[in-house]
Amino acid sequence: MKRVGAHVSASGGVFVAPLNASAIGAKAFALFTKNQKQWAAKPLTTAEIDQFHHNMQAGGFRPQDVLPHDGYLINLGNADDTAHDKSLAAFIDELKRCQVLGLTCLNFHPGSHLKQLSVSACLTRIAQSINRALEATLGVVAVIENTAGQGTNLGHTFEQIAEIIAQVEDQSRVGVCLDTCHAFTSGYDLRTPEGYRAVMEEFERTVGFAKLKGMHLNDSKPDLGSRVDRHESLGKGKLGLAPFRAIMNDPRMEEIPLILETVDPDLWPEEIAMLYGMVEGEA
Ligand SMILES: [Zn+2]
Ligand SMILES: [Zn+2]
Repeated sequence: MKRVGAHVSASGGVFVAPLNASAIGAKAFALFTKNQKQWAAKPLTTAEIDQFHHNMQAGGFRPQDVLPHDGYLINLGNADDTAHDKSLAAFIDELKRCQVLGLTCLNFHPGSHLKQLSVSACLTRIAQSINRALEATLGVVAVIENTAGQGTNLGHTFEQIAEIIAQVEDQSRVGVCLDTCHAFTSGYDLRTPEGYRAVMEEFERTVGFAKLKGMHLNDSKPDLGSRVDRHESLGKGKLGLAPFRAIMNDPRMEEIPLILETVDPDLWPEEIAMLYGMVEGEA
């Protein structure tokens, strides 16, 4: 079964996220487990964690149906040691929050070189940060998201992601999340069935589907290769609907969170229903 959902609000507490997901007909969801624009967060209380589990069960969500996203301030590729330590500490805290919630994954953007490091030195710094974070935590898989390659953000090619993964010591705890908008604006043309097939073959060759832990389903405002990160509602951007139809009928995307991060939350129920309507050959 395909597990489609959206990055829902956790405003009011993490425990409201599963309720918000249920309300839009989602079978998976993403959330921030803390304010994504701030460094510090209060630890989750036992009451919050219990309520989260209660609402997960009520909505029929399994831990692996949830793909939490880390905060926007973290840059594991920062060359500056003080800034990097702050990012690493925040990243470890994010992993621990997932751990106490009983969740299996944390989705994050690899990092930016800020013109202070070469691409390859920055990829190594990111991989070493992942190693340190995994040593400091238990169980949660670090899920690297491909980026649009805006500014000095790395992770905009499958090769860069593969280079990070190759340097991670615990291969069982590193994975990938593919964002369709980011893939397209970083230069992967998913618009036609042939293009989709070629991009996914390249992904298999470089990273491998064994590492795919989730996807972000977003149409794109900017054009192919623009390296600008601007999401659009499905069918209203430059990607069109073909890639989403391909994903909904691709057995490699079974049972992983397929998460909308599209711009209009009011459309999420329709977008989810539309995606399920694209599945061929099901009664
Ligand atoms: Zn992201
Ligand atoms: Zn994304």
